[in-house]
Amino acid sequence: MKSRWSDADARQFSDRYAPRWGEALALRVYTSRLIGADPDLVMHGGGNTSVKIIKENLLGDRVEALCVKGSGWDLDSIEPQGFPALELAWLRRLRKLEKLSDEEMVNQLRTHLFDASAPNPSVETLLHAFLPHTFIDHTHADAILALTNQPDGAELVHQALGDRVVVVPYVMPGFQLAKLAGEMFEGKRDADGMVLLKHGLFTFAPDARASDRRAAWPLLRPANLAQPGRGCRRSLPSCAAFSRRPVATRISRTAGSSSSTAPHRKCWPWWRRRSALRSPRAAP
Ligand code: ZN
Repeated sequence: MKSRWSDADARQFSDRYAPRWGEALALRVYTSRLIGADPDLVMHGGGNTSVKIIKENLLGDRVEALCVKGSGWDLDSIEPQGFPALELAWLRRLRKLEKLSDEEMVNQLRTHLFDASAPNPSVETLLHAFLPHTFIDHTHADAILALTNQPDGAELVHQALGDRVVVVPYVMPGFQLAKLAGEMFEGKRDADGMVLLKHGLFTFAPDARASDRRAAWPLLRPANLAQPGRGCRRSLPSCAAFSRRPVATRISRTAGSSSSTAPHRKCWPWWRRRSALRSPRAAP
């Protein structure tokens, strides 16, 4: 499968950002821009990405941190400063709670930042925290919503994406959704992704390159995805090619000039037919 990933571009991001922010966050910026520059992934309601790293605090302790997209930043032009870092161990402990109001959740996120001046972390931060993977990508891609907004959405998701995904029923974004998603992942720890009905897609991977391949699942050719068992069972990213798009050439720009004539759009009649949807709405 062709990838949007370019070694040369990745190296540029690494050279630019890794000396100050570390290699993982440098590549997180790179692949977040790849996703953000693709209107088929983030046109409706955006998405968010994260990476788990080790940070040194003021006392010299090396602790786990979750760097997750902050509010006020767009994925297609995000910088390392757009990923507020939070104390991951604390966030994981919150999972023990039965309930957590939205107001208290926001308070907990803000009071466990490494930098008090950082932007507010995404409202979906705890979902990123409750999953164990290093790189996590979340989009509200049209192609996923076209499936999940159908009455038989869960079945359609499995037909299209195979059995390497967890399908989570609709729950409003927030603590309860994060907790449910974490629990459902525990029941299928070999999953590469998670579809949230009427909401979007989470994909996860141990490194930036694999993470980018999985985040591009909604761009896979629907002709292949539409036929269960045709190569989709084991590894979705290798089951179909998607056309190389001009995304890579756009990611280093700020602001999202977007191409609406991308080649793979021609391959979408099946998705479009399935989506007798009005305009799919992403959850916040
Ligand atoms: Zn979302």
